[in-house]
Amino acid sequence: MRLDFKIQKIHSTMIKILINDGIHPDGKLLLEDAGFEVQTEKIEQADLEAQLPAFDVICVRSATKVRADLIDKCPNLKAICRGGVGLDNIDVAHAKSKGIEVYNTPAASSQAVAELVFAHAFSLARFVHTSNRAMPSKGDSEFKGLKKSFAKGMQLRGKTIGIIGFGRIGQETARIALGLGMKVMPVDLVINELDLKLNIYDSDDVSLSVKLKTYAMDKMLANADVISLHVPGGKKALIGAEEFAKMKDGVIVINAARGGTIDEDALLAALESGKVRGAGLDVFVNEPTPRKDLLEHPQISLTPHIGAATVEAQRNIGLELAEKLIAHFDK
Ligand code: NAD
Repeated sequence: MRLDFKIQKIHSTMIKILINDGIHPDGKLLLEDAGFEVQTEKIEQADLEAQLPAFDVICVRSATKVRADLIDKCPNLKAICRGGVGLDNIDVAHAKSKGIEVYNTPAASSQAVAELVFAHAFSLARFVHTSNRAMPSKGDSEFKGLKKSFAKGMQLRGKTIGIIGFGRIGQETARIALGLGMKVMPVDLVINELDLKLNIYDSDDVSLSVKLKTYAMDKMLANADVISLHVPGGKKALIGAEEFAKMKDGVIVINAARGGTIDEDALLAALESGKVRGAGLDVFVNEPTPRKDLLEHPQISLTPHIGAATVEAQRNIGLELAEKLIAHFDK
């Protein structure tokens, strides 16, 4: 996404936008250059009812809730924006029934999430997470012992990655995996095959296309050395005891999708039995208070739901929101 596309001053009457959970400075600049009045000072949830009616647009992330009763108090509201993907904090159907458009930025963070998947994959393959925990206390007294205990590393080149959910993030994960020389086995409810375009150096000048077909879940489970989940969260865990039993011994499992897509009890059992070599978790049941036995497990590489938390992804989110709002008021 570029900043230098043509910016038009859109309206003579100033459109007021409340950015309540932050925005990258480039997104704010784009909105201001287009002639919008942008307020980025946060209004507390309890005060929104009194103050939001003065605005035409509210942009939120996950912190601010935009529920039906608040929407009903704001007859001037024309658009609600969510920086990110999940719309659980917005009453979307109610907003739409009132003619208020709802925008999100589903594609802006896909590369960031896919890179985090490989941060976990490399960490688990070479025991970096365990080593980082042990070296500060034992690195000067038990160096040789630690070296021996982390000696059986695994290289990713030549291994097979199973990707459950072959949408935006699944495809970005596949691009990185192909670049590493991994075999890719995607699983998806609706996609049977697709041509995955790979741009070298992020440029259209040098690109190639790889035809990938998807596989049945059981076939992937039996063959993958690394399995990464990229499906929307559902009521029931997609990976439970039955699925773990079908995996190869010593598999690495990574979840950067939603807490609950992996059954956490079944994961702990699979780690104890040795079926799973290590797990990478960015998402948890009961966030922001995940269970301690997961957090303290030596074979789990952990991050606190930071899949989209890169400067680049936040800038993409800000620019994408700004572009959507500019297009909205330009209609
Ligand atoms: P997407 O909609 O582009 O792709 C999801 C894919 O999963 C679709 O192709 C769909 O057909 C497939 N799918 C759905 N149910 C399935 C099932 N039961 N079995 C197999 N395939 C199934 O979504 P996306 O943008 O790639 O996001 C994927 C997940 O990543 C979402 O859960 C999202 O919430 C999560 N996410 C996490 C972070 C983070 O910070 N960790 C950031 C952004 C998104």
